[in-house]
Amino acid sequence: MQTSFSLAQLADPDVAEADKILRACVHCGFCTATCPTYLLLGDELDSPRGRIYLIKDMLENDRPASEEVVTHIDRCLSCLSCMTTCPSGVHYMHLVDHARAHIEETYRRPIGDRLLRALLAWLMPRPRLFRIPLLFGILAKPFAPLLKGIGLTWLAAMLKLVPGKIPPHPSEQGRVSLAQGERTARVALLTGCVAPVLAPDINAAAVRVLNRHGIEVVSVAGEGCCGSLAHHMGREHEALTMVRANVDAWTAEMDRAGLDAILVTASGCGTTIKDYGFMLRNDPAYAEKAAKVSGLAKDISEYLAAMTLQPVAGHPALNVAYHAACSLAHGQKVVHQPRQMLSDAGFAVQEIPEGHICCGSAGTYNILQPELAGQLRDRKIRNIERIKPDVIAAGNIGCITQIATGTVIPVVHPVELVDWATGGPVPAVLERRISTETPL
Ligand code: SF4
Ligand code: SF4
Repeated sequence: MQTSFSLAQLADPDVAEADKILRACVHCGFCTATCPTYLLLGDELDSPRGRIYLIKDMLENDRPASEEVVTHIDRCLSCLSCMTTCPSGVHYMHLVDHARAHIEETYRRPIGDRLLRALLAWLMPRPRLFRIPLLFGILAKPFAPLLKGIGLTWLAAMLKLVPGKIPPHPSEQGRVSLAQGERTARVALLTGCVAPVLAPDINAAAVRVLNRHGIEVVSVAGEGCCGSLAHHMGREHEALTMVRANVDAWTAEMDRAGLDAILVTASGCGTTIKDYGFMLRNDPAYAEKAAKVSGLAKDISEYLAAMTLQPVAGHPALNVAYHAACSLAHGQKVVHQPRQMLSDAGFAVQEIPEGHICCGSAGTYNILQPELAGQLRDRKIRNIERIKPDVIAAGNIGCITQIATGTVIPVVHPVELVDWATGGPVPAVLERRISTETPL
């Protein structure tokens, strides 16, 4: 694709990067075939190619974002399915990230939208505060249909995602979990912000599996939200503040006691952490440290699949429908490792039809775009239920929460199954099914 940025525009490294990405696109349109929003809406402007044209026009002409651009960019899930399909290697993720930041800088959203976004960006990275509205949410959950009926769709969508109960908050920061037997490696495990509130069992399972296999695990003091929620809302300043804080925390830990890897159990966070090096490439004080952090970041499944797991006898060889979170499959290209890890642990892995299509979770998408997110969730669940699994496994807390709102099939993180298979407890949602004697 030809571009016509001026030399003055190209002096901005973000614009120069956008120019490079735009030039790689050959307009072939292969990406439209796998784009969830194009699939649902059939509008070229809701396809990757259409969005690329909108972004090109906005950036080349140095225009503030228009309502039309905002509408179509907001509908993009950042699922990155288009990046998997594109034969030309167009880095859509970096392009749309830049477009979202441009929108945030130049477009004034309606007041309700601004308040909602500000609230989400402020609240969700703060796990202790985030618990408070969730507790109110449990009480208000039965009124979700009523709220939807009077037009408060965003509030109804939020309530739908609230779990039935909130587990106690684990105090993890600074905790070191020692390896059993001889220590073979030392890793940091990202605590995260939403996951420890909604599903602390996931990281607890990861720690047990790692310790059992000779790995010492540290939850590094000073780390916090990975920044992806703010980043995907275009709030670059907030996102980069969180990114720098994490880089500082992990760098200090590397210098103090050494780290062989930084492991992540929420793939949405993992994709962003692997991009820290790019996000801070123009910051001389952080570029090198951020690149080092990105180089050490791994999804838990990547790490465990490279090890020899030691399953114990006695757990049922369940049929597991593996839902490939977009951030893991398309964002990180971690495709075979989660399947291999589950299979090594003794489970029968089932492929979900249309597995490349997003479940509609996508960070805050299911709150900000509840109609489209709901259609994608229903489509995903129809596809899952066709293969009649015993359990669904997904490597991202967002997908787990989204899918669990629409099906009675238990949804777990793959590492919870691996923990069970290697001597840990039965995952809580499966235990509930077993204890109520519902056939698995
Ligand atoms: S990121 Fe997903 S929703 Fe956005 S354009 Fe690409 S395929 Fe479509
Ligand atoms: S598949 Fe790649 S090269 Fe083709 S239109 Fe889409 S982004 Fe451009």
